[in-house]
Amino acid sequence: MREAGRIVAEVLDLLQHEVRPGITTRSLNTLAETLIRERGAEPSFLGYPPGSRYPFPAAICASINEELVHGIPSPRVLRAGDVLTVDVGAYYQGFHGDAAWTFAVGEISVRAQTLLGVATGALQAGIAQAVAGNHVGDIAAAVQAHIESYGYHSTRQYTGHGIGQNLHESPQIPNYGRPKSGAVLREGMTLCIEPMVLIGSSETQVLPDHWTVVSANRELTVHFEHTIAIVDGQPEILTRF
Ligand code: MG
Repeated sequence: MREAGRIVAEVLDLLQHEVRPGITTRSLNTLAETLIRERGAEPSFLGYPPGSRYPFPAAICASINEELVHGIPSPRVLRAGDVLTVDVGAYYQGFHGDAAWTFAVGEISVRAQTLLGVATGALQAGIAQAVAGNHVGDIAAAVQAHIESYGYHSTRQYTGHGIGQNLHESPQIPNYGRPKSGAVLREGMTLCIEPMVLIGSSETQVLPDHWTVVSANRELTVHFEHTIAIVDGQPEILTRF
């Protein structure tokens, strides 16, 4: 798990230096897939879920501005002022790592900067609750409370998840909930915590490409995710870059 997480972190580290005005999300995808394969891993998202009518066609999700999650890399050129969320998974020697980060493309608005700050704060708040003996609801409630304290909206539809030999395992980690509810967190669990922040409403839509999720009001959205393990009772971030 640590090695899979390290490969994912390496991809995000590479891409954070490549994200700039003028680059296409398709070329970012190529860079990511090449690095994953060079490390002897496979892209977790490519062809996911197996047997689906519409398997995901790329190694990364590239979601721009109002696109919340699951954007498909394309020839679209990034422009200054965009925010781009890259979500990436790597499968290495039987285990997955999974993380997402929203990057600023060139200079972005103060409004967008604020949104990024709130979302990284929500990620930290959620991770801080991932200690043995706490409940899934403690993570969920911390994420929700942080986001709502700034007047933004936390997604009701999309969740974090357990991770390991499968990309998505139980328990689901919702981005809203009540403290002390849900499954108890235990030593050795590996979890993806992934807050998403929306403006004005948490409502979303799926575009006709069957994948891209956008805010219903087309407002800016951001998304951050780390894979963590509970080690010695405390959260260890496996995808830090
Ligand atoms: Mg995930």
